[in-house]
Amino acid sequence: MLAEVHETVGRITTGVVTSAIPALARVDPHRFGLAFAGVDGELEGVGDWDQAFSVQSVSKVFSLALVLAHDGEALWSRVRRQPSVHRFNSLSELDGDCGIPRNPFVNAGALVVTDRLLGITGNAKAAVLDLLHTESGGGPHFDPVVAADEQAHNHRNSAIAHLIADHGNLHHPVEDVLEHYTWHCAIAATCGQLATAALFLARGGIRANGSRLLSAADTTRLNATLLTCGTYDAAGDFAYAVGLPAKSGIGGGILAVIPGRGVLCAWGPALDSHGNSVAGALALSAFTSITGWSIF
Ligand code: GLU
Repeated sequence: MLAEVHETVGRITTGVVTSAIPALARVDPHRFGLAFAGVDGELEGVGDWDQAFSVQSVSKVFSLALVLAHDGEALWSRVRRQPSVHRFNSLSELDGDCGIPRNPFVNAGALVVTDRLLGITGNAKAAVLDLLHTESGGGPHFDPVVAADEQAHNHRNSAIAHLIADHGNLHHPVEDVLEHYTWHCAIAATCGQLATAALFLARGGIRANGSRLLSAADTTRLNATLLTCGTYDAAGDFAYAVGLPAKSGIGGGILAVIPGRGVLCAWGPALDSHGNSVAGALALSAFTSITGWSIF
Protein backbone atom coordinates (compact mmCIF):
# COMPACT_ATOMS: atom_id res chain seq x y z
CA MET A 1 0.00 0.00 0.00
CA LEU A 2 2.84 2.39 0.86
CA ALA A 3 4.48 1.69 -2.52
CA GLU A 4 1.19 2.44 -4.26
CA VAL A 5 0.96 5.73 -2.38
CA HIS A 6 4.56 6.55 -3.30
CA GLU A 7 3.73 6.02 -6.97
CA THR A 8 0.62 8.23 -6.69
CA VAL A 9 2.64 11.06 -5.17
CA GLY A 10 5.31 10.74 -7.88
CA ARG A 11 7.68 13.65 -8.14
CA ILE A 12 5.91 16.70 -6.72
CA THR A 13 6.90 19.94 -8.41
CA THR A 14 4.61 22.36 -6.56
CA GLY A 15 5.14 24.00 -3.19
CA VAL A 16 8.15 25.79 -1.75
CA VAL A 17 10.55 24.93 1.04
CA THR A 18 10.20 27.26 4.04
CA SER A 19 12.37 30.34 4.03
CA ALA A 20 11.63 31.15 7.70
CA ILE A 21 14.67 29.24 8.95
CA PRO A 22 17.71 29.43 6.61
CA ALA A 23 18.97 25.93 7.54
CA LEU A 24 15.65 24.47 6.39
CA ALA A 25 15.60 26.51 3.17
CA ARG A 26 18.60 24.46 1.96
CA VAL A 27 16.76 21.09 2.12
CA ASP A 28 16.11 19.34 -1.23
CA PRO A 29 12.39 19.94 -2.02
CA HIS A 30 12.10 16.59 -3.83
CA ARG A 31 12.75 14.37 -0.81
CA PHE A 32 9.79 12.20 0.11
CA GLY A 33 9.28 9.60 2.81
CA LEU A 34 6.31 7.81 4.32
CA ALA A 35 6.23 5.40 7.27
CA PHE A 36 3.51 3.43 9.00
CA ALA A 37 3.95 2.17 12.56
CA GLY A 38 1.28 -0.29 13.67
CA VAL A 39 -0.02 -0.71 17.23
CA ASP A 40 1.14 -4.33 17.14
CA GLY A 41 4.76 -3.37 16.41
CA GLU A 42 5.04 -3.44 12.62
CA LEU A 43 7.03 -0.64 10.98
CA GLU A 44 7.05 -0.12 7.22
CA GLY A 45 8.28 2.74 5.06
CA VAL A 46 8.96 3.95 1.53
CA GLY A 47 11.25 6.58 0.01
CA ASP A 48 13.35 8.65 2.41
CA TRP A 49 11.51 7.30 5.44
CA ASP A 50 14.69 6.70 7.43
CA GLN A 51 16.28 10.09 6.70
CA ALA A 52 16.16 12.56 9.62
CA PHE A 53 14.41 15.91 9.05
CA SER A 54 13.52 18.87 11.28
CA VAL A 55 10.30 18.04 13.14
CA GLN A 56 9.46 21.69 13.93
CA SER A 57 5.78 21.98 14.90
CA VAL A 58 5.30 18.22 15.01
CA SER A 59 7.13 18.46 18.36
CA LYS A 60 4.10 20.37 19.70
CA VAL A 61 2.15 17.10 19.86
CA PHE A 62 4.68 15.71 22.32
CA SER A 63 4.99 18.83 24.49
CA LEU A 64 1.19 19.00 24.74
CA ALA A 65 0.93 15.30 25.63
CA LEU A 66 3.43 15.77 28.47
CA VAL A 67 1.52 18.74 29.88
CA LEU A 68 -1.86 17.00 29.62
CA ALA A 69 -0.35 13.91 31.26
CA HIS A 70 0.61 16.02 34.27
CA ASP A 71 -2.18 18.59 34.45
CA GLY A 72 -5.22 17.04 32.80
CA GLU A 73 -7.72 19.77 32.01
CA ALA A 74 -5.94 22.65 33.78
CA LEU A 75 -4.08 23.83 30.65
CA TRP A 76 -7.33 24.76 28.93
CA SER A 77 -7.79 27.86 31.08
CA ARG A 78 -4.62 29.25 29.41
CA VAL A 79 -5.09 28.02 25.82
CA ARG A 80 -8.27 27.57 23.79
CA ARG A 81 -9.10 24.74 21.38
CA GLN A 82 -10.45 26.63 18.41
CA PRO A 83 -9.22 26.19 14.81
CA SER A 84 -7.13 29.11 13.63
CA VAL A 85 -8.11 31.43 10.83
CA HIS A 86 -4.79 33.25 10.62
CA ARG A 87 -1.28 31.97 9.95
CA PHE A 88 0.38 29.85 12.62
CA ASN A 89 2.71 32.66 13.66
CA SER A 90 0.14 35.46 13.57
CA LEU A 91 -0.16 38.07 16.33
CA SER A 92 -3.34 39.62 15.04
CA GLU A 93 -5.88 38.00 17.40
CA LEU A 94 -3.71 37.57 20.45
CA ASP A 95 -4.08 41.05 21.94
CA GLY A 96 -7.86 41.12 21.51
CA ASP A 97 -7.98 37.64 23.06
CA CYS A 98 -6.11 38.90 26.18
CA GLY A 99 -3.06 36.73 25.50
CA ILE A 100 -5.06 33.47 25.46
CA PRO A 101 -3.94 31.67 22.28
CA ARG A 102 -6.51 30.10 19.99
CA ASN A 103 -5.14 26.57 20.23
CA PRO A 104 -2.03 24.69 21.44
CA PHE A 105 -0.63 24.15 17.92
CA VAL A 106 -0.30 27.73 16.67
CA ASN A 107 3.00 29.20 17.86
CA ALA A 108 1.34 31.30 20.56
CA GLY A 109 -0.38 28.27 22.08
CA ALA A 110 2.72 26.11 21.84
CA LEU A 111 4.72 28.78 23.70
CA VAL A 112 2.22 28.62 26.58
CA VAL A 113 2.46 24.80 26.54
CA THR A 114 6.27 25.02 26.65
CA ASP A 115 6.03 27.51 29.51
CA ARG A 116 3.87 25.05 31.47
CA LEU A 117 6.19 22.14 30.61
CA LEU A 118 9.10 24.20 31.90
CA GLY A 119 7.21 24.59 35.19
CA ILE A 120 6.48 20.85 35.40
CA THR A 121 9.91 19.50 34.41
CA GLY A 122 12.41 22.35 34.79
CA ASN A 123 13.74 21.40 31.34
CA ALA A 124 11.07 21.41 28.62
CA LYS A 125 13.35 20.76 25.63
CA ALA A 126 14.94 17.73 27.33
CA ALA A 127 11.52 16.38 28.33
CA VAL A 128 10.26 16.50 24.73
CA LEU A 129 13.42 14.87 23.36
CA ASP A 130 13.33 12.24 26.08
CA LEU A 131 9.72 11.31 25.24
CA LEU A 132 10.55 11.02 21.54
CA HIS A 133 13.67 9.05 22.32
CA THR A 134 12.06 6.62 24.73
CA GLU A 135 8.97 5.95 22.64
CA SER A 136 10.85 5.54 19.34
CA GLY A 137 13.61 3.37 20.78
CA GLY A 138 16.28 6.00 20.04
CA GLY A 139 17.41 8.20 17.16
CA PRO A 140 15.76 11.63 17.54
CA HIS A 141 18.32 14.33 18.41
CA PHE A 142 18.72 18.10 18.64
CA ASP A 143 20.00 19.84 15.50
CA PRO A 144 22.08 22.77 16.82
CA VAL A 145 22.37 24.41 13.38
CA VAL A 146 18.59 24.63 12.99
CA ALA A 147 18.19 25.84 16.59
CA ALA A 148 20.81 28.57 16.14
CA ASP A 149 19.31 29.66 12.81
CA GLU A 150 15.83 29.95 14.30
CA GLN A 151 17.17 31.83 17.33
CA ALA A 152 18.81 34.33 14.98
CA HIS A 153 15.50 34.87 13.12
CA ASN A 154 13.06 34.71 16.02
CA HIS A 155 11.55 38.21 16.00
CA ARG A 156 8.00 37.05 15.42
CA ASN A 157 7.97 34.34 18.11
CA SER A 158 9.68 36.77 20.43
CA ALA A 159 6.93 39.34 19.80
CA ILE A 160 4.25 36.68 20.41
CA ALA A 161 5.88 35.57 23.66
CA HIS A 162 6.22 39.17 24.93
CA LEU A 163 2.57 39.88 24.14
CA ILE A 164 1.44 36.74 26.01
CA ALA A 165 3.71 37.69 28.92
CA ASP A 166 2.25 41.20 28.94
CA HIS A 167 -1.17 39.62 29.47
CA GLY A 168 0.23 37.56 32.36
CA ASN A 169 -0.07 34.19 30.59
CA LEU A 170 3.62 33.20 30.79
CA HIS A 171 5.06 32.14 34.14
CA HIS A 172 8.74 31.99 33.12
CA PRO A 173 11.00 34.62 31.53
CA VAL A 174 10.27 35.10 27.83
CA GLU A 175 13.89 34.23 26.89
CA ASP A 176 13.70 30.87 28.69
CA VAL A 177 10.39 29.91 27.09
CA LEU A 178 11.68 30.87 23.62
CA GLU A 179 14.88 28.90 24.11
CA HIS A 180 13.12 25.69 25.14
CA TYR A 181 10.48 26.08 22.41
CA THR A 182 13.07 26.68 19.69
CA TRP A 183 15.15 23.68 20.74
CA HIS A 184 12.25 21.25 20.86
CA CYS A 185 11.21 22.44 17.38
CA ALA A 186 14.82 21.81 16.25
CA ILE A 187 14.69 18.07 17.02
CA ALA A 188 15.60 15.94 13.99
CA ALA A 189 13.91 12.56 13.53
CA THR A 190 12.97 10.17 10.73
CA CYS A 191 9.44 9.31 9.57
CA GLY A 192 9.84 5.88 11.16
CA GLN A 193 10.97 7.29 14.51
CA LEU A 194 8.21 9.92 14.65
CA ALA A 195 5.44 7.47 13.72
CA THR A 196 6.70 5.00 16.34
CA ALA A 197 7.09 7.68 19.02
CA ALA A 198 3.48 8.85 18.58
CA LEU A 199 1.94 5.37 18.87
CA PHE A 200 0.55 6.20 22.33
CA LEU A 201 -2.02 8.32 20.46
CA ALA A 202 -3.23 5.23 18.58
CA ARG A 203 -3.12 3.06 21.71
CA GLY A 204 -5.48 5.13 23.86
CA GLY A 205 -2.59 6.75 25.77
CA ILE A 206 -0.45 3.65 26.43
CA ARG A 207 3.33 4.03 26.04
CA ALA A 208 5.75 1.59 24.40
CA ASN A 209 6.56 -0.02 27.77
CA GLY A 210 2.89 -0.64 28.56
CA SER A 211 2.56 2.18 31.11
CA ARG A 212 -0.03 4.92 30.68
CA LEU A 213 1.00 8.41 29.49
CA LEU A 214 -2.49 9.82 28.97
CA SER A 215 -5.95 8.75 30.06
CA ALA A 216 -8.09 7.31 27.27
CA ALA A 217 -10.29 10.42 27.47
CA ASP A 218 -7.36 12.85 27.20
CA THR A 219 -5.99 10.85 24.24
CA THR A 220 -9.32 11.12 22.43
CA ARG A 221 -9.41 14.84 23.17
CA LEU A 222 -5.83 15.38 22.00
CA ASN A 223 -6.69 13.57 18.76
CA ALA A 224 -9.80 15.75 18.38
CA THR A 225 -7.65 18.86 18.82
CA LEU A 226 -5.23 17.55 16.18
CA LEU A 227 -8.09 17.05 13.74
CA THR A 228 -9.47 20.56 14.21
CA CYS A 229 -6.23 22.52 14.79
CA GLY A 230 -3.21 20.40 13.78
CA THR A 231 -2.71 21.47 10.17
CA TYR A 232 -2.64 25.26 10.57
CA ASP A 233 -5.50 27.26 9.06
CA ALA A 234 -6.15 24.45 6.56
CA ALA A 235 -7.45 21.92 9.11
CA GLY A 236 -10.92 21.83 7.52
CA ASP A 237 -9.55 21.02 4.09
CA PHE A 238 -7.14 18.49 5.59
CA ALA A 239 -9.94 16.71 7.47
CA TYR A 240 -11.96 16.65 4.25
CA ALA A 241 -9.10 15.22 2.17
CA VAL A 242 -7.45 12.89 4.70
CA GLY A 243 -9.89 12.33 7.57
CA LEU A 244 -7.27 11.73 10.28
CA PRO A 245 -6.05 13.70 13.32
CA ALA A 246 -2.70 15.14 12.17
CA LYS A 247 0.07 17.60 12.97
CA SER A 248 2.26 19.23 10.36
CA GLY A 249 5.49 21.21 10.67
CA ILE A 250 7.33 23.65 8.42
CA GLY A 251 10.12 21.09 8.07
CA GLY A 252 7.66 19.22 5.81
CA GLY A 253 6.63 16.45 8.19
CA ILE A 254 3.02 15.42 8.85
CA LEU A 255 2.12 12.95 11.58
CA ALA A 256 -1.33 11.32 11.29
CA VAL A 257 -3.03 9.09 13.85
CA ILE A 258 -5.26 6.14 12.97
CA PRO A 259 -6.78 5.37 16.39
CA GLY A 260 -6.58 1.66 17.23
CA ARG A 261 -4.41 0.88 14.19
CA GLY A 262 -1.24 2.93 14.06
CA VAL A 263 0.46 6.18 13.11
CA LEU A 264 1.61 7.47 9.72
CA CYS A 265 4.38 9.98 9.17
CA ALA A 266 4.91 11.60 5.78
CA TRP A 267 7.72 13.96 4.86
CA GLY A 268 8.14 16.24 1.85
CA PRO A 269 9.88 19.62 2.41
CA ALA A 270 7.94 21.63 -0.23
CA LEU A 271 5.02 23.40 1.50
CA ASP A 272 1.72 24.88 0.33
CA SER A 273 0.63 28.42 1.22
CA HIS A 274 -0.65 27.29 4.68
CA GLY A 275 2.67 25.62 5.60
CA ASN A 276 1.59 22.01 5.04
CA SER A 277 3.74 19.58 3.04
CA VAL A 278 2.30 19.23 -0.47
CA ALA A 279 3.62 15.68 -0.97
CA GLY A 280 2.81 14.72 2.63
CA ALA A 281 -0.83 15.80 2.39
CA LEU A 282 -1.21 14.10 -0.99
CA ALA A 283 0.33 10.89 0.34
CA LEU A 284 -1.92 10.78 3.40
CA SER A 285 -4.99 11.47 1.30
CA ALA A 286 -3.99 8.66 -1.12
CA PHE A 287 -3.34 6.33 1.82
CA THR A 288 -6.76 6.83 3.41
CA SER A 289 -8.46 6.57 0.00
CA ILE A 290 -6.73 3.25 -0.72
CA THR A 291 -7.21 1.75 2.76
CA GLY A 292 -10.47 3.36 3.84
CA TRP A 293 -8.76 3.96 7.21
CA SER A 294 -10.09 7.44 7.95
CA ILE A 295 -11.84 8.09 11.27
CA PHE A 296 -15.11 8.79 9.47
N1 GLU B 1 9.82 26.65 14.94
C1 GLU B 1 8.86 27.10 13.98
C2 GLU B 1 8.27 28.43 14.42
O1 GLU B 1 8.15 28.64 15.59
C3 GLU B 1 7.79 26.06 13.89
C4 GLU B 1 6.74 26.44 12.90
C5 GLU B 1 5.98 25.27 12.36
O2 GLU B 1 6.53 24.21 12.10
O3 GLU B 1 4.77 25.45 12.17
O4 GLU B 1 7.91 29.25 13.62
